[in-house]
Amino acid sequence: MPAPLSHTDSLALGGGQIAPCVLIHYSEIGLKGRNRPLFERQLIANIRHAFADDIPVEVRRLFGRHLVEVPAGTPRAEIEKRLTRVFGIAYFAHALATPPTLEAIEAAAAQVVEGKAFASFAVRAKRADKSFPLDSQGINVAVGAHLGGVTGRRVDLTHPDLTVHIEVVDRRALVYADRVEGPRGLPVGVGGRVVCLLSGGIDSPVAAARMMRRGCRVSFVHFHSFPYTNPASQAKVAELAAILGRFQGPAPLHLVPLVDIQRHIVAGAPSTFRVLLYRRAMLRLAAAIARQEKALALVTGESLGQVASQTLANLTAVDRASPIPVLRPLLGWDKEEIIAEAQRIATFDLSIEPHEDCCSFLEPTDPATRSSDHRLAALEHNLALDDLLAAALAATEVRVVQPLA
Ligand code: ATP
Ligand code: MG
Repeated sequence: MPAPLSHTDSLALGGGQIAPCVLIHYSEIGLKGRNRPLFERQLIANIRHAFADDIPVEVRRLFGRHLVEVPAGTPRAEIEKRLTRVFGIAYFAHALATPPTLEAIEAAAAQVVEGKAFASFAVRAKRADKSFPLDSQGINVAVGAHLGGVTGRRVDLTHPDLTVHIEVVDRRALVYADRVEGPRGLPVGVGGRVVCLLSGGIDSPVAAARMMRRGCRVSFVHFHSFPYTNPASQAKVAELAAILGRFQGPAPLHLVPLVDIQRHIVAGAPSTFRVLLYRRAMLRLAAAIARQEKALALVTGESLGQVASQTLANLTAVDRASPIPVLRPLLGWDKEEIIAEAQRIATFDLSIEPHEDCCSFLEPTDPATRSSDHRLAALEHNLALDDLLAAALAATEVRVVQPLA
């Protein structure tokens, strides 16, 4: 349900004053028809969550937008840091909320441009509230003339140095000059849960973030070969999960010991198929964890052809081991694209720190580039892995990872 109007009315407008707020426009949410209220509510919850306990905010829904009331004195940089991590936001602006009178709008417009360097400007009004006496063009002309008079700057409608935006909505107007780009996508929580196989590398954290950006909530699974790999590798993965937590909040991280299964595979199968057999074991274990987590799919950071285990033949053969879909959001991405995205989401620097990967443990120098489900299933039949898989699940450690600030 939308917030009751009486609440919205009270927003930062006590006594009909001009009051600062943050205006949020959302991206694809607007297109989702009957799901729209669900998406809007989730976005509100996620915005509140982004400010968590340390900055008390009020968030209101308002005709296809959200308004956030932030305590006076909150640094803009802090607001921007938090909102640029909330998926579903197309852009936002530090705005002034005013009563819906031309006089108040003009005063707010003058306040918004104060101290800004510009030679030319444009006013762009949108009128959602048709009870306002002027139409959009009428507002543009009136406020443009007022600002021209106050600032001495000229109007330029094609290449303005500065654009003043005015949105007249439900008995108030919102006035602002600069838009801050949001991360777009859909709010985390509207898309269901997935389990991401998180290694310490560059790719899988990016894959997790891409799924969050499509509205999914992500739980993490990491496979380690302790004591052959050191505990620092697990700590590194937990830290990557904490960085990713900035986009979705706390999340479970399952740390699964793979070493006994790997030993068994090493002893009982040709070395060329080792990595593929490890991968199939990982998918089976991750799918079992997905069942516990009520997740609908698995996610990996694989990209087609990147390494021998990621040829189309091998991905297909590995896939068959999973009872639920394996999503590979980076399948068609180049390494450079993945790295650029890893830098954007701030996982790159940590990802490239050296770590011991469970798959380099006893990794052959001659991995097969062409395998088949049939071939791998026959090898697994001889290996009789079921008890070892159950033991690995029983020995799995689960932590809830808190987001990094
Ligand atoms: P990444 O940078 O994510 O490690 P990569 O290109 O190094 O990817 P691989 O190491 O072959 O690729 O792994 C492919 C995918 O398998 C990873 O993206 C990840 O989803 C999963 N994976 C690999 N190793 C592990 C592990 N130890 N724990 C969890 N998932 C893993
Ligand atoms: Mg890796």
